[in-house]
Amino acid sequence: MNYNQLQKFLKKLDKNKFSIKIIGKTWMGKNIYAVLYEKNPSFLWSILSAGIHARENLSCNLICHQIMQLNKQNIDLKCNIAFLPMINPDGIEICLRKTQNFNKKWQKRLKNILKNQNNCMFKANFRGVDLNNNFDANWQNQYTKVASPCSHGYYGKKPFSEKESRAVAEFTKKISPFITISYHLKGEEIYYDFFQTGRLRQRDKKIAEIFGYSTGYQIKSTENFSSGGYKDWCVQKMKIPALTIELGDDNFSHPFPATEFKQILQKNQGIFDCLNKSLLVYNMFEEKLMEEKFMTEALCLAKIAYKKDEVPIGAVVVKDGKIIAKAYNQREHGDATKHAEIIAISKACKKLKDFRLVDCDIYVTLEPCTMCMGAILNARIKNLYFGAYANKQNVLSSEEINERSGLNHKTNITGGVLKQDCENLVKQYFAEKRK
Ligand SMILES: [Zn+2]
Repeated sequence: MNYNQLQKFLKKLDKNKFSIKIIGKTWMGKNIYAVLYEKNPSFLWSILSAGIHARENLSCNLICHQIMQLNKQNIDLKCNIAFLPMINPDGIEICLRKTQNFNKKWQKRLKNILKNQNNCMFKANFRGVDLNNNFDANWQNQYTKVASPCSHGYYGKKPFSEKESRAVAEFTKKISPFITISYHLKGEEIYYDFFQTGRLRQRDKKIAEIFGYSTGYQIKSTENFSSGGYKDWCVQKMKIPALTIELGDDNFSHPFPATEFKQILQKNQGIFDCLNKSLLVYNMFEEKLMEEKFMTEALCLAKIAYKKDEVPIGAVVVKDGKIIAKAYNQREHGDATKHAEIIAISKACKKLKDFRLVDCDIYVTLEPCTMCMGAILNARIKNLYFGAYANKQNVLSSEEINERSGLNHKTNITGGVLKQDCENLVKQYFAEKRK
């Protein structure tokens, strides 16, 4: 697909369904388009992009096909999509030999870049920079050794030296997507990794597997021969899952036969379902992070109690993602009701000037006792997260109190958040006491 065809395609779109934005201009003055499909203003965004490498312009057709599907049908989507159908239109013109209207200066320049290479192998932009090596992600450690303008592999004078890569990065930062998918050609492979570690890596791998399962493409590692890529930058700087998907059978050479497009379409038809599933994985991961963040706060408070020779228990009350009250155990100071939870609830009620804490959550390092569980239910707290399980062989657990309190209100209970850390602290305290 070339630039004119893209423009014609965009003109035909239903303007009630899509908004078309120009996110930047190329060196030759062409528009870099974004097609925004906003299903719901409260949804997170995703980015699907194509045509960053000139010779892989068949990927642009796939994006346009996906847009068409949304144009025609009502598809169940849990996220918004920003399509970047053609990141490198200048390069694509060169690749498709639409250079007859180039002026003499441009022709000469192109000749220097192309050297003896065939147009149809062209990957770079008009300045001979490979845009997918120009992003600010390990840019200094390029695996490609191409140090001057070339039809492929030249990373540019500095990160983001190119208008196209800059425009894409700025746009990505602006809409802050939960995922980016970059379509390339060819190999039927999916890349997701760029030196991310721990849980981020687990999350991203899981998401890559969703796409792998749906397309039948293989998941592979590129860490040793990837640098300055858009996917790399998304993983490293935006900390989001980002996939490079290599469409099409590797047995075909460039220019990739258009007759094979059917295969590509067929293997990638699960895209919207994959996005929905990826969002689930992403949200689960974010929730876990959030839980651990607030439990870490509660643990810090428990450690203060420890230093003051109190049973080390800490609690925080959270509303709208913010801590509104903090407390730790103080009962050794002559008050049987001064448990961390009671003090925190009391502080939160004062702050909100309400005895109901309907939209509040409480995080506590140890499973609450009967008194505190009663207070949590009476305050109508929405979610209770606790760390260590209490040793409650002959007494009611927090779950049982929740069920049998006789109150209409029930609190959602999640136990075992940072269980080990919370448990260790209490154990350590009692071990020291016994000495
Ligand atoms: Zn208590």
